[in-house]
Amino acid sequence: MFCPNCKYDYKPGIEKCPDCGADLVEKLEEPKPTVKKEPKFVFLCTIQDFVHANFLKETLEKNNIPCLIKSEGGMMFHPPSQVKIYVPEEKYEESQKIKEQLVERLEEPKPTAKKETKFVFLCTTQNLIYANLIKETLERNNIPCFIKSEGGMMHYPIPYSRPELYVPEEKYEESLKIKEQLVDDL
Ligand SMILES: [Zn+2]
Repeated sequence: MFCPNCKYDYKPGIEKCPDCGADLVEKLEEPKPTVKKEPKFVFLCTIQDFVHANFLKETLEKNNIPCLIKSEGGMMFHPPSQVKIYVPEEKYEESQKIKEQLVERLEEPKPTAKKETKFVFLCTTQNLIYANLIKETLERNNIPCFIKSEGGMMHYPIPYSRPELYVPEEKYEESLKIKEQLVDDL
């Protein structure tokens, strides 16, 4: 028999602890490991990329909010497209605020990407002289244009290389007309 308080082992027949007077028990209960209360994590938000997700994680942690990142699907060299952030339930409100502040900062209006002009092939010319002539004429008509010549170098154009002219897609029709006119003139 054991005393639940003193943990002493007593002979059978003794029912109370001589030391503390507690009722003896047949077995001592295993001391339960004090369960560390795990915070319950709740879903906070989805972030589109890892960099921002980590940034948010760091910011939350600086505010003493532990935080879990869960990413789906991504592999080492193919980062996941979406990252989910989880925070302790009792920190949810606080996290939400931090996140919103941060997202505002992250989503500052990006400088509108200058729309790249898509160049399309206009024609092949006999040589660089023609090519430059067409180029100049096009540019006089406010059509930007570039010459692509294979192999030739700036000061030593290969006579047999046929420079290609490229113009913006939206100027193609116009460029074609100008070019045809010019070729007729030539
Ligand atoms: Zn006792």
